[in-house]
Amino acid sequence: MNPSKDSLQRFLFENISIRGELTQLHKSWQAITENHHYPPVVRDVLAQMLVAGVLLAATLKLKGRIILQIQGKGALPLVVAECTSENAVRGLAHYSKDIQAGNLKTLVGDGQLAITLESDNKTERYQSIVELVGDTVADAIEHYLETSEQLSTRLWLTVDSNTAAGLLIQKLPPESVDEENLHKVQQDDDGWNRVEQLSSTIKDEELLALDAAEIIHRLYHEEDVRVFESEPVFFRCSCSRDRVANMLRSLGQQEVTSIIKEKNIIGIHCEFCNHAYEFDAVDAEQLFTDSHLADNSATRH
Ligand SMILES: [Zn+2]
Repeated sequence: MNPSKDSLQRFLFENISIRGELTQLHKSWQAITENHHYPPVVRDVLAQMLVAGVLLAATLKLKGRIILQIQGKGALPLVVAECTSENAVRGLAHYSKDIQAGNLKTLVGDGQLAITLESDNKTERYQSIVELVGDTVADAIEHYLETSEQLSTRLWLTVDSNTAAGLLIQKLPPESVDEENLHKVQQDDDGWNRVEQLSSTIKDEELLALDAAEIIHRLYHEEDVRVFESEPVFFRCSCSRDRVANMLRSLGQQEVTSIIKEKNIIGIHCEFCNHAYEFDAVDAEQLFTDSHLADNSATRH
């Protein structure tokens, strides 16, 4: 992968029905952190969640987005990473000021990992929540996929000051393997173990610095690997003035008017991108003018 480019590289082990993916995030990762001043320990967890989000989004059939969320009661109570099927990423973390270095479980405390899949038109939404298990983000997600999806998956996630990177291998579910291949897969019982072992020789510095073709060659040159076209990954926040307006409408006119009376202005700040949306008295009144009443009737009191 070109270091100036954020990208996702998919590949497939032809005869053993294992998919693989590599990603490196540079600008997208910097865009997510530039206004947040996260302490290093928080940055690391968020980076790994984002990389995992990109890797898992690429395994989805659904056109929409995946949301990875860790929640707990510790010094790192919330980490959210989202990635769409177009590879647009965004994410955020909440942390307490006295946070100290530690493994994931220590940072988050007793907590949960939730993964949500949502289609673009919002007609399909699936969420599974499991107990947070493991010392690293990779451990927690592998455990999730094993218990919740019965999908054997391994992840290697890493981050330095300006790059976040990761590698995923996953057994294809049997139903997605065609008959001819299924036969070959059955003949290679050891395929998964072999690929897992080869993958685990990857070093963090290689994941961060080498391009995808070099990594695939370095790890799997004795395997039959099909490499797909590389795809761009980028930062994009899905917030908009319209969405904030809808949210305010759902509060109801009375509530909005009373906030305006008290503060003169309603300021809504998007935590993902730091964008500030402001609604003054005139804007607030317009929220509830005739043109909006039709679609707002359900939420008004
Ligand atoms: Zn935003």
